[in-house]
Amino acid sequence: MIRHVYVMGCLSERYKKDLEKEIRDVDRYFGVNDIKGVIKQIGLTYDHRLEGERHLTTPGHYAYLKISEGCDRKCAFCAIPLIRGRHHSKSLDELVRETAFLVSTGVKEVMLIAQDTTSYGTDLSGQKSLGELLERISSIEGLSWIRLHYTYPAGFPEDVLSVMNKKDNICKYLDIPIQHVSDKMLKIMKRGYGRKQLTDLIGNIRSQVPGIVLRTTVLTGHPGEGDREFQELSDFLDEVRFDRLGVFVYSAEEGTSSFRLSSPSLSAAMGSFPSVIVIVSVSPIFFADAQENKRSALIRIAKKSIIKIAYRFIINLSP
Ligand code: SF4
Repeated sequence: MIRHVYVMGCLSERYKKDLEKEIRDVDRYFGVNDIKGVIKQIGLTYDHRLEGERHLTTPGHYAYLKISEGCDRKCAFCAIPLIRGRHHSKSLDELVRETAFLVSTGVKEVMLIAQDTTSYGTDLSGQKSLGELLERISSIEGLSWIRLHYTYPAGFPEDVLSVMNKKDNICKYLDIPIQHVSDKMLKIMKRGYGRKQLTDLIGNIRSQVPGIVLRTTVLTGHPGEGDREFQELSDFLDEVRFDRLGVFVYSAEEGTSSFRLSSPSLSAAMGSFPSVIVIVSVSPIFFADAQENKRSALIRIAKKSIIKIAYRFIINLSP
């Protein structure tokens, strides 16, 4: 039986007041970083000595390791800095401890994640320290694989490549989201690099780490993108042949500079639907055990995302 419902995450960070008014059956809403608040709410005391000890929600052989939170970049389409705040890194020692703990529980692979892994350490020492972090955690005995996600192309710290070459347990794999390739679009998107820098960087990575597997993501349908820019992106992808590719449709986020540029295309609104529909369809089953009012609160939270998207959808249909 579920007696209390607490909601924590991006939606409640951004729309806490609206949610409190609209869905009153939720007992309390928490922001993304308010772990101490949640612990207090459930009658426990925060114990910093347990920092780094975790219950995994992934299968036991791998784990995500969040190395920093927030982001100082200014990408025009992205609401993450508004939700997650300024970039702040966990300390090297803390991450080494956390990784060692994970390995002691049977984890074989850790995936380094953050909004921007390449900025790791800049807020601590004034210098990018991802290479140093990789050196430290790759020396932990028993750790078979380290995989690097969400590296930002501008100012890529190239010492990471030499550490990758030196250490066998760092996968020759890099996730490097480029988002677009047209100079015009990259400028509108405020990404801080152009097509030439991207081409040079990819060439450099491939020559320094032969056989490396590159994954990227691109964003299409952003305001300002016409047939010409789309074709340029498509031709570039044909030419560069990334090993893995994710293509996302632009969706307008309130408070971002892209939001003010123009209304998003119909396809952008449509593109947001599937992931939200999944949440709504699983909630009645998942929460079947909850009291009726709590269950309905949970379902309404999930539906709230749909309403936001539907609203945008209607706006797009307006002449
Ligand atoms: S897209 Fe990534 S790098 Fe850019 S602002 Fe958002 S989180 Fe930061």
